[in-house]
Formats: sequence, structure tokens, C-alpha cells
Amino acid sequence: MLATKDRLCEWGITTEVKCNLCYSENETMEHLFFKYGYTGYIWERLQQYCKLCRGNSGWHEELEWLAKHLKKDDFINQIKKIVLGFAVYSIWKERNKSQFQSTMKATDT
Ligand SMILES: [Zn+2]
Repeated sequence: MLATKDRLCEWGITTEVKCNLCYSENETMEHLFFKYGYTGYIWERLQQYCKLCRGNSGWHEELEWLAKHLKKDDFINQIKKIVLGFAVYSIWKERNKSQFQSTMKATDT
């Protein structure tokens, strides 16, 4: 599991829970990967591309569905897993870039 801000708050590491990408919602796995407009759009497009059209149910439901439907370890499913894994990686990387750049800006002033 990724250390989103809601978790960092639960662990007592930070008190700042707002998402650095939109500044309007709390940063949770649901929000960051599915409910935030831009990342929700990325998932929709990737699902269309991978012919996995099924809407956007949220983090836990999507993982369960993917684990069930990409179980068969053939070449096509391997490619789909790589594409979806890369999407998670890219979204998290963008989140970290936004997070740490804003932290650096805040300490610069
Ligand atoms: Zn957000």
C-alpha cells in the first residue's frame, strides 16, 4: 500500500491531508487514483485501450476485478498488467513531484 496523506495522518506523521494535485479533497488512494478528475480520465482511457471497459468503481473494487480477470498469464494479459502498473507508477510519481516541489517551495520562502 502506498503512503497517501490520509495514512500518514493516521500514523501521526503529518497533519496535512489535502491532495496536492487539486487542493480540494483529502488525498486517499480512492481520490488520487480514481476520483481526481485527471487520473480518473487516465484510467478510463487505459481501460478503453486495454478493452477492459467497465467504469470506475474505486481502488479496492478495481484491484479485485483486475486480479480476477487478468489471472490467465498469457501475453495479452501480461501487456495489460504492465500498462496498468505503469499507470499507477506514473500517477504516484506525478503526485510525489507535486508534493515535494511544493514542500521545497514552502521551505524556500
Ligand atoms: Zn486531488
